[in-house]
Amino acid sequence: MFTYINQNVLNNLFYILVSIFVFYFMYDHVRFFQKHRRHQHLLMIVCLSVPLVLCMKFPIYIAHDCVHDLRQIPFLIGTLYGGWAVGFPLLVILLLVRFVFYGYNFITVVVYVAMFMITALYSPAFNKLNRKKKLVMSTLLTFFLAILSTFIAIIIADFKVTKSYVIDFILVPPLGILFVVYIIETLKDAIIMRSKLIKVEKMEIASQLAASISHEIRNPLTVVKGFMQLLKAPNLSNESRDKYIDIALGELDRAGLIIDDYLTFAKPAPQKIEKFLVDQELRKVIDMVKPMANMNSVRISDDLVTGYIIGSIQHFHQCFLNLLKNSVEAMPNGGELNIASFICQDKVVIKIQDSGIGMTEEQINRFGEPYFSTKEKGTGLGTMVALKIIETMNGTLDIDSAVNKGTTLTITFSQSNE
Ligand code: ADP
Ligand code: MG
Repeated sequence: MFTYINQNVLNNLFYILVSIFVFYFMYDHVRFFQKHRRHQHLLMIVCLSVPLVLCMKFPIYIAHDCVHDLRQIPFLIGTLYGGWAVGFPLLVILLLVRFVFYGYNFITVVVYVAMFMITALYSPAFNKLNRKKKLVMSTLLTFFLAILSTFIAIIIADFKVTKSYVIDFILVPPLGILFVVYIIETLKDAIIMRSKLIKVEKMEIASQLAASISHEIRNPLTVVKGFMQLLKAPNLSNESRDKYIDIALGELDRAGLIIDDYLTFAKPAPQKIEKFLVDQELRKVIDMVKPMANMNSVRISDDLVTGYIIGSIQHFHQCFLNLLKNSVEAMPNGGELNIASFICQDKVVIKIQDSGIGMTEEQINRFGEPYFSTKEKGTGLGTMVALKIIETMNGTLDIDSAVNKGTTLTITFSQSNE
């Protein structure tokens, strides 16, 4: 037995496994291959034709009438998973390379064309199976095809079945396929699970946002309600009435703005990812918090250097709006708020520095934790949303804070050069 399962068998298996890993590595990391099924097929053909050729170049052994190697494993895997679109190019490569290396052989053509037709016909049904059935069916199919090929060879060419043939051509390939399909399914599951997880996380942000919207909206509504009740009072002077109406209208405007702001962010449609200038967008956010800063006698200064980053502009606005609001709220008796941006080693760094109440060690650790708030009417959602956004933009956030001295947040994104 061990004379047949030799180093060459292991080498053949090794070529196949490495190519499967390369396929998933490329598929996982190169967006081009995820776009269309056609691109995925192309990757499959390239990744599988390499072990196909290597198996034939370094076979298990060469007899006078046939060459034993595990070429049928990459060939069948490609045809099973990719159908005729992958199987046919692999068939052509297989036959061409076989004939270039070892000369023309009629049985090889018949055997592999038969294997191709049966497998390609079975492929659509195979791809609908669950993991366990895929394992069983691919193993059985390979075994069946090996037996069928043997019969074809015996009928056409009076082929002699040797012990090595039985092991290397009939028994090892089904086991190899079992092994390879198992690895493919495991890798595929891992990729699917991860993208599902990301989706769940995004949904979570949306639902947590809903909670914070209702909170943010309730405040102006409460104010409006109060002034409406005041309007009911008899003997109200015209002057006070106009004042109350103006305040109520102002609050309604604010509620509208909040809804606009949060709803553009919580849109179910995928966010547009684009390249934008940090300083330009930061200025817009600073303008949004200016009225609030003025009310708290907070002086805002900025020192912005331009640079491109990639992400959703709405997310970016939301993120910095939340962070700047916290800074202003940390200075109820006024103070200094400085926003700076600069470029450092291919990174765009944004610093938000306030001279507010600062945070204790525990508060720093809990920064970004949902519903953690030290404010009477806090939602504890602002920092969570901001952190999640920074995370999805592949950025980082560092906190440097001292109680009663102030807080400095340092946010780093990678710079986009294209
Ligand atoms: P909220 O503002 O509704 O309290 P956040 O999630 O925005 O919720 O902030 C959570 C907590 O983090 C705040 O209650 C505050 O204690 C702390 N915090 C955030 N930013 C600052 C800051 N710049 N200075 C001091 N404390 C801060
Ligand atoms: Mg906040």
